[in-house]
Amino acid sequence: MIFFWSLVVYKAKGENFLVLPPMKLFVLDVNGVLCSSRGKGRPAKLRPGVDMFLSTLLEWKKNHLIEVGVWTSMLERNATVILDQLFTSEEKKLLLFTWFADKCTPCVDRPFKSYKNLSQVWRVFPYFHSDNTTLFDDTEFKAQSYPQNLHLIETYNPKDSEDRVLPNLLRELQYHLNEDTRPRDPKTSPAM
Ligand SMILES: [Mg+2]
Repeated sequence: MIFFWSLVVYKAKGENFLVLPPMKLFVLDVNGVLCSSRGKGRPAKLRPGVDMFLSTLLEWKKNHLIEVGVWTSMLERNATVILDQLFTSEEKKLLLFTWFADKCTPCVDRPFKSYKNLSQVWRVFPYFHSDNTTLFDDTEFKAQSYPQNLHLIETYNPKDSEDRVLPNLLRELQYHLNEDTRPRDPKTSPAM
């Protein structure tokens, strides 16, 4: 997994000054990460903590710390009901993009399977690239084109009532966010 909360140190007149965290892009898979699909347009079983997870990420988005995109390999018609469960219409407007199966690339070695080629994202949103993008997905081969950009998530099993994956992930992300937005003395902190 990649955390590129590295800071930018701008130089002017020989002095290092303004330190800002460059914006990151989080690309979220849906089924298996945020919920467990019950198939063909039916409501999904939502993962414990998903409301807090998504609302916190979208708060960070509002604070210009991250951008959030959703990319599911489900067909749009099957995913719509689930997205309505996960996001209010106002929250949907905050997403950088919502992509479905039609944006996935067929796997040559896995019949009827497809993966998420992040270079498509970077083509459409050129600010983002392999150094500032993380794909959160529960299926390893979905990130086969850029495995270094994958944060592999344990697939949600709705029978597991003790599932704490999203609250734990949120804590981990918060930690890194705090680390990199903590004020530093540019004279003692190396430029990253
Ligand atoms: Mg999945």
